[in-house]
Amino acid sequence: MNVYDSRPHILVVDDEPLLRTLLAKGLESQDYLVAEAADGEQAIAACAEQSFDLVLMDVSMPVMDGFTAGARISQQWPHLPIIMLTGFDDIESVNNAFESGATDFITKPINLPLLWQRVRYALRSTSALKLSHAYHDQNTACRLARLGFWQLNTRSGQLNWSKDAHELIGLSQVPEKVQDLFSLLTEDQIQKMTALFMDSINNGSTLDTEIVVGQGQDLRYIRVMADNALDPHIISGAFQDITEQRTTEQQIAHLAEHDALTGLPKRRLLLSQLQERMNQHPPAPKWLVAAIDIHRLQRINDALGSDAGDQLLIMIAQRLTRILPRPRLLGRLEDDCFLVALPLGVAEEHCMEWLRSVLSPLEEPWLLGEQQVTLNFKVGVAIQDKENQADQLLQAAVRTQTTIISNGRMTLLANTTLPYEDQSANLLLESQLHGALEQDQFFLLYQPQQRLEDTCIVSVEALARWQHPEEGVISPDRFIPLLENMGLMPEFAEWVLRRACRQALQWQAEGNPLTIAVNISASQFADPQMVDTFVAICREEGCPPSLLEIEVTESMAMTNPLKAIEHFNALRANGFRIAIDDFGVGYSSIEYLLHFPHDVLKIDRKFVNGVVECAGSRAIVRAVTTFCDTMKITCLAEGVESARQRDYLDALGVGTIQGYLLSRPINAGEITQFIRRLHDTRYAKPEEPQTHADSI
Ligand code: C2E
Ligand code: CA
Repeated sequence: MNVYDSRPHILVVDDEPLLRTLLAKGLESQDYLVAEAADGEQAIAACAEQSFDLVLMDVSMPVMDGFTAGARISQQWPHLPIIMLTGFDDIESVNNAFESGATDFITKPINLPLLWQRVRYALRSTSALKLSHAYHDQNTACRLARLGFWQLNTRSGQLNWSKDAHELIGLSQVPEKVQDLFSLLTEDQIQKMTALFMDSINNGSTLDTEIVVGQGQDLRYIRVMADNALDPHIISGAFQDITEQRTTEQQIAHLAEHDALTGLPKRRLLLSQLQERMNQHPPAPKWLVAAIDIHRLQRINDALGSDAGDQLLIMIAQRLTRILPRPRLLGRLEDDCFLVALPLGVAEEHCMEWLRSVLSPLEEPWLLGEQQVTLNFKVGVAIQDKENQADQLLQAAVRTQTTIISNGRMTLLANTTLPYEDQSANLLLESQLHGALEQDQFFLLYQPQQRLEDTCIVSVEALARWQHPEEGVISPDRFIPLLENMGLMPEFAEWVLRRACRQALQWQAEGNPLTIAVNISASQFADPQMVDTFVAICREEGCPPSLLEIEVTESMAMTNPLKAIEHFNALRANGFRIAIDDFGVGYSSIEYLLHFPHDVLKIDRKFVNGVVECAGSRAIVRAVTTFCDTMKITCLAEGVESARQRDYLDALGVGTIQGYLLSRPINAGEITQFIRRLHDTRYAKPEEPQTHADSI
């Protein structure tokens, strides 16, 4: 059967082939499409396979009689009419036929003209039924699709709407005139609709646009479509409520730009918000961007479950929202990193203290159910430079944050590296660093350390430099982070240590048994093989470890204090000296130091700077020297630039100094000359040691 054939389809069921053929041919001649079945079972099978508009069913048949088959068919296809061909004109047989689901009957012998009439009648009621079903289906489809119809008479301005249109548009009643419709729209929308109506009237163009009606909760997005009807003064078409679709799209767009957990903007949105603010006229004060990392959030996830971790992130987002001054921007970057952008509220030199006090509520405990937890934060800070773009600022803050070695509740670090327009320059440097070791482009300078008691130079600090073929000498502050990032630190560190060993041996041979202090990096200190590597290198170079002092910053030691103690003990057991570098920067307390076996404590330049003017700095230096006296360790002040600073430090009990007052870092040959000159001066006339502040 051709599915596109629109002719009514009739199933003729009779066991007598002759009668069946006769009926089939007769029906075909009346322009019906006919199928045949020889008994009740075949009839049911045919109905299951094809769709019929009418069944003509004989009553007495083998296999399954017409009553049984009729009953089953009408049960399964209740709208399919069945005309029973009853053999007997008795009332019981007719009753049986109707009880079996027949809609009509005709007795045998069959009066064909009468049969055609009954068939036509039965089919007419089927098509009426079909039409009503189609209408019902169409209404259901329209309701589900939130679709309606409308018509505009362009001469009268009269609007006609399909049933329930007002519900779809979200109004108590539909607008009757085009002016009523316009009163619901914005000025822009009115102009657009007017132009579209005109285009449709004048050029017969199809109209397809979207309007927004209502406000707040009742806001509806309506798609309006229309074609110019046959009558040139009538525009008619459909409209559809697409609010759900638009709302979903908006939610998807929101989710794409916002963090699902905290609802805060993600990086991309925050960046564009910041750029917009930075471009504002008149320009705001400089912007400060802080990348706030929750140190070891994973530990909380492991201990209390990831739900607790999520809960904590939400609480942090809420607390940040509460404590940050306005105007401000706040976003979430990765799992455990938040981003804050604030216009600088204070002079630039005070911004770190200001930020610390703004963020200090984060240091208060967090309540997770019954459990109270405290968190450590690492905060990388970047401040807008005139040319800084938002993404450079953001990158600088994040990058700075990643270099922080946390200790204490909150460690803040300002971006001190070059502006990030230099990213491409850094990339170039990185590629060149690969060859720098092989091409022997690194060299060591040494900065003397003087014992105040007898003005002797007892030790030097080895400070690395990179002799770049084009750029000249590059500072370690610039290339050491790159080496760390590139994983090249082990090779470089080995080179430094070997070079220091050889130099120490040479000075020893020359009668200057100087200790050389060597800086080590965070990744070296984290390496469990560190001590073994050092011991092996010293053995290979034939250098007694006692000629070397390993400088470990306070922050490195505090990252994993237990591991640090293990390293320190092993280093000392092998004869190395240990210096705690940059003491005071990491905000750890002196009590902590009691647990770290060490030989030298280097007071950070920050306190030395303040020692003349600031009583607080003096108090700290005093506390440190008392501690060093008690523990019988050397107290060294770094960054000493003036004789006044030296005198104060001396008075406060500092034993050794290092800094520009004595000498900038110089090469090995110059150190030898420096010591000789100092020796000569000392024994010629007792004067101030000569300052070599301009020697490099
Ligand atoms: P640091 O260990 O704090 O080294 C002291 C820095 O202060 C040196 O900078 C030194 O030149 C500078 N300095 C010395 N005296 C004064 C002074 O009186 N005033 C001022 N304003 N500065 C003074 P440098 O040589 O640029 O080294 C910077 C940092 O690079 C070092 O800081 C150290 O952390 C790192 N570094 C240097 N060499 C190596 C190395 O071989 N290996 C590793 N891992 N790091 C190194
Ligand atoms: Ca150092």
